[in-house]
Amino acid sequence: MRQHTIRKPVGIEGIGLHSGKVARVTLSPAPPDAGVAFKVRSTGERIAARPESVVNSHYATTVGANGTRIQTVEHLMAAVAGLGIDNLDIEVDGPEIPALDGSAKPFVALLALAGLAQQSARRRPLALPCPLRVGSSGRWMQIVPSETFRISYTLDNDHPAIGTQVLSWAPTERSFVEEFAPARTYGFLKDLGLMRKNGLARGGSLDNAIVLGNRGALNGLRYRDEFVRHKILDLIGDLALLGRPLRAHVIARNGGHALNIELVLAIQRAVGLERRAAVAVPARADAAAASTDAARRDGFVPAPGLAAI
Ligand SMILES: [Zn+2]
Repeated sequence: MRQHTIRKPVGIEGIGLHSGKVARVTLSPAPPDAGVAFKVRSTGERIAARPESVVNSHYATTVGANGTRIQTVEHLMAAVAGLGIDNLDIEVDGPEIPALDGSAKPFVALLALAGLAQQSARRRPLALPCPLRVGSSGRWMQIVPSETFRISYTLDNDHPAIGTQVLSWAPTERSFVEEFAPARTYGFLKDLGLMRKNGLARGGSLDNAIVLGNRGALNGLRYRDEFVRHKILDLIGDLALLGRPLRAHVIARNGGHALNIELVLAIQRAVGLERRAAVAVPARADAAAASTDAARRDGFVPAPGLAAI
């Protein structure tokens, strides 16, 4: 499988969900192995779309470098990953990626308009060295090695419009475009005042989010289980920060951006540790290696310094 970028630059403008400020993004082709990177127009700062660039994951994923930040990158990142784009420059004129309709659908349409271009370099899927788990009793995520990528998600919420929603999905480009990209973000009317006081949801409206009142959604749903679909979309966007397609099965219960990023960092650390260990220690069956192997066979190896089982 080869890497892909887009054929020509395209742009779109809109209001940020949290900042309420207008921003413009321009997407441009990038060379093989360049990855996805943001460029902030006002400062010229380049921020790689990488796990180490995440500076905040409260309600949205914010990346930053040297004091410059770009908020709410996840829906655009999900569209990029969902269409199989590896290399892309994203110039941002403003503090936040536009919310548009609250889903990844408008970004998918924009990327489709640009067209995809195959590149000479090969894609390098990321294989997991061992299972990992992050989170605590009611909110957790685990990831296990698998030949194909799959997400199984359970969302529980006592709001009558949500309840318990369960979905297991092995992504294809077509199912991403039709069944997940259009799922919108959502918020509770009762939380809106406090969120706005804290500088969040200032651009939120019925045009870019499902708003839940006491009894139900104030606007119509695109899918009966749109909420769990959006959770999966957010997870795809956050996992895209790894920069490589995953060969693993993610099983999640009631996650959010903070937990998604915790998982992304755990994956990055596990892959990095495994690589370093392979270089440092020649393959020999000593006692330590045998006991690690046994632990791996028996179950989950917690991510160093991150897991809270
Ligand atoms: Zn979202």
